[in-house]
Amino acid sequence: MSETQVNLSSHLWDTSDLYKNAVLQLQEAADTMGLDPNISERLKVPKRALVVSVPIRLDDGSIRCFEGYRVQHNMTLGPGKGGVRFHPEVNLSEVAGLAMLMTFKCSLVGLPLGGAKGGIRVDPSKLSRQEAQALTRRYTSEINMIIGPDKDIPAPDVGTDAQHMAWMMDTYSQERGFAIPGVVTGKPIEIGGSLGRAESTGRGVVYTIQHAAKHLHSIGKPGPKMDSSTTVAIHGFGKVGAVAAQEIHQLNTKVVAVSDVGGGLYNKNGLNIPDVLKYMAKNRTLVGYPEADAITNDELLRTHVDVLIPAAIDGVITSKNVSTVNATIIAEGANGPITNEALKELESRGVFIIPDVLCNAGGVIVSYFEWVQGMQNFFWSEAEVNQKLAEVMANAFKKVVDVQSTYKSGMKTAALISGVDRLNRAMLLRGLFP
Ligand code: GLU
Repeated sequence: MSETQVNLSSHLWDTSDLYKNAVLQLQEAADTMGLDPNISERLKVPKRALVVSVPIRLDDGSIRCFEGYRVQHNMTLGPGKGGVRFHPEVNLSEVAGLAMLMTFKCSLVGLPLGGAKGGIRVDPSKLSRQEAQALTRRYTSEINMIIGPDKDIPAPDVGTDAQHMAWMMDTYSQERGFAIPGVVTGKPIEIGGSLGRAESTGRGVVYTIQHAAKHLHSIGKPGPKMDSSTTVAIHGFGKVGAVAAQEIHQLNTKVVAVSDVGGGLYNKNGLNIPDVLKYMAKNRTLVGYPEADAITNDELLRTHVDVLIPAAIDGVITSKNVSTVNATIIAEGANGPITNEALKELESRGVFIIPDVLCNAGGVIVSYFEWVQGMQNFFWSEAEVNQKLAEVMANAFKKVVDVQSTYKSGMKTAALISGVDRLNRAMLLRGLFP
């Protein structure tokens, strides 16, 4: 079977590699666990999708229409949950695949939430602040009828941040006449955001790497010590990668390579991450940082390290470059960074994969905490948030390795089985309407 061949009765969704990979992974989990085919039939396609035109007036006075999407994949366990992506390549099928991953992620970590995702096909780096605000507000207004604190709760994703969430919250609230902070998560603290949300995804990634290292030792396999002898490379130095780099640096573990869209840095003795962050804040690029060698993104993925964290975007480790990847643990900080064929090869080589739905779940876990705090109007300290996050991540990691050892499967399949199992039981209990 080729990397992208999937068995779907619908042809509407089947156009992006990310979606096809998600369906293949679901199929493998379903076969391994012996899932009722009537359940996998329902899980292969999203419940609902809205495609909208988002017209805005650009700064030069002209009007331009961007294409926007919100897809709700499954809402058996609760309201839809998932980010909004601003990216020039995003499309309906990719958003649907990302929504499917959110369903499995929320179920796996035990949240009372379903899976959703949104996006606008736009290059956000080409928008002024005013244009970005107009785009975000009009998009919110266009998807207004399917989102809400009890329906579907957006959050940041690639290309969006807390400011976009503030504009979404304001637009939704203006249309009703009073403040409704629970409509989005990942908001600024001042308007009901949670302490620790901005750092939660990167922090969670590092927790899972620590669990993975301990797990490898416990089963007698060579794993990194997570001390100064351990080397880490991070692809993507944004909301996830930069935080993970900081956390790893604090453990005294060596981050030897980092990169963003403009290129990367390598220093075999370990980068001084606080210094790199200062340089990045001042120059808005990693390029030119003096205490390291310049490397390309492809070179970063080939770096010989203990831990590789692809934390940027999907489809970066594929059948084309997988043979050059050289790491003991790969932690999927991004959603879908390893294609299915590449994953098979890495697993057969004994590379320990921390699957996206587990690895980057810290973001949606603290989103859930933010939503709960907002509903109660009672806010927690950052220490409480982090402690609860660590607990949920530890339980989820244990669940996945237990399933992995029961089925003797790969970690990716084990993570999906863990997510699908809870959902399956809930779907069977709720039954099929009518
Ligand atoms: N965009 C993040 C993810 O892919 C967070 C979603 C959320 O917090 O709802 O998991």
